[in-house]
Amino acid sequence: MSKPDVLIVGAGLAGLCCARTLQQHGLSFEILESSDGIGGRVRTDSVDGYLLDRGFQVLLTAYPEALDQLNYEALELRPFIPGAQIRYHGRFVRLTDPWREPGAFLNNFFAPIGSLSDKYRTWKLRSDLMKKSIDEIFSGEETSTLQALRRRGFSARMIETFFKPLLGGILLDGKLTASSRMFEFAFKMLSEGDSALPAKGMGAIPAQLAEGLPADSIRLMTKVKSIGPGQVELVSGETLQAKSIVVATDGPSASHLLGSAHNINSKSVSVLYFVARESPLDEPILVLNGGSRGPVNNVCVPNLVQPSYAPEGNWLVAASVIGWPTSDDTMLVNLVRNQLRRWYGLVALEWRLLRIYRILHAHPVVYPMDWQQPQKVSDGLYVCGDHRATPSIQGAMESGRLAGESLLRELGVSVAATEPKIAAVQTKRAGHATSVAERDDDD
Ligand SMILES: Cc1cc2nc3c(=O)[nH]c(=O)nc-3n(C[C@H](O)[C@H](O)[C@H](O)COP(=O)(O)OP(=O)(O)OC[C@H]3O[C@@H](n4cnc5c(N)ncnc54)[C@H](O)[C@@H]3O)c2cc1C
Repeated sequence: MSKPDVLIVGAGLAGLCCARTLQQHGLSFEILESSDGIGGRVRTDSVDGYLLDRGFQVLLTAYPEALDQLNYEALELRPFIPGAQIRYHGRFVRLTDPWREPGAFLNNFFAPIGSLSDKYRTWKLRSDLMKKSIDEIFSGEETSTLQALRRRGFSARMIETFFKPLLGGILLDGKLTASSRMFEFAFKMLSEGDSALPAKGMGAIPAQLAEGLPADSIRLMTKVKSIGPGQVELVSGETLQAKSIVVATDGPSASHLLGSAHNINSKSVSVLYFVARESPLDEPILVLNGGSRGPVNNVCVPNLVQPSYAPEGNWLVAASVIGWPTSDDTMLVNLVRNQLRRWYGLVALEWRLLRIYRILHAHPVVYPMDWQQPQKVSDGLYVCGDHRATPSIQGAMESGRLAGESLLRELGVSVAATEPKIAAVQTKRAGHATSVAERDDDD
């Protein structure tokens, strides 16, 4: 490729969304990616006919940026049941969203998770957040999530049995130390849309984002070693030049490349995939650990959500462990199996281990959290990624677009202000009636 206008370092969601923005305005670019594929932290491996996302993850269909940039229909999304089964005192308690699961009001009312006032407070939290705009959430007061929940009057039991495993599962924040703004944002997104999986796995998301990009614009297995004004040096020793450079790597790599004194800490997760002859669950729902005995925080059977995740007649079980309780795989598997045996009986000991994913940098620790941090580092140098926004698919995609827009403005290209798209999202549950999640205006 001849000298492009822009070099983008990293082909994760942020790098791809930045590239799309530049392409829409006629700029040429080359994406340099150190690994063997696109998607960054959102990749799916196909193993023996099973689709294994690199760590359990879901698309929250209410994300405004995803609504804007993705074609949900082409992704063939299917949702989880809105709610969870909570393992509590030796049994499973089902708590679902009564606004989307007819009949759940009565069931939730009698569920032994939280008191009646906790149930009222959950309803109030949901309704407050649905009325608040995302801007209001990110410009509002910021504390730790734990403090925010206590201020809202939730009981210690509700926090321990519901919020800790829920936020452990979606934000890897089992200790509730993350920003209350991120918690509010995630709870709003959960309330306004579905948690869904694409038919071809989460890796279908970056694949769709890359669809329209020129075939020769992405160079895989190309690691950037250092960055200087208007140029990058690869570990191979090659030097590439461009008018502008966008660093779209994960936070720790960006700090290293930019020589930043600001270290970005990581939240880690381990995910174990097993194959079972019979499904331990009978519906597409997330199971949360509402007790103190670990190490598993959450479990699901992805092919109950998306049948394509496993060959017919087999069941894929995904068990997520926050952090790395041990670096010894055998010990980790034994700990996980023991917990699953307590939950599902001796049959869990027969499940075949398919693969373990240990993800050291799954989420950046972003605290305090300023909505839309500046993307420009200096003239011709930009940075984007989830560490510059919210640690999420939404944050990475939006940050990539904003970096592209900021760069375009510097080059004098006029960029229209983008309004978040408001759309009705429709996803279909596997083998169930249609579930409709409608996203209304934030206000
Ligand atoms: C297990 C797990 C579960 C998650 N669950 C959810 C979820 O349910 N919902 C949600 O919204 N979010 C979830 N997330 C978070 C979400 O996936 C990330 O926030 C988002 O994908 C980050 O995208 P990014 O483009 O900012 O960074 P990345 O995906 O990290 O992309 C950066 C890219 O830069 C490349 N790179 C790094 N250094 C160099 C270099 N020197 N030279 C060239 N290339 C380089 C990397 O290889 C990578 O491809 C989860 C993440 C994980 C890991």
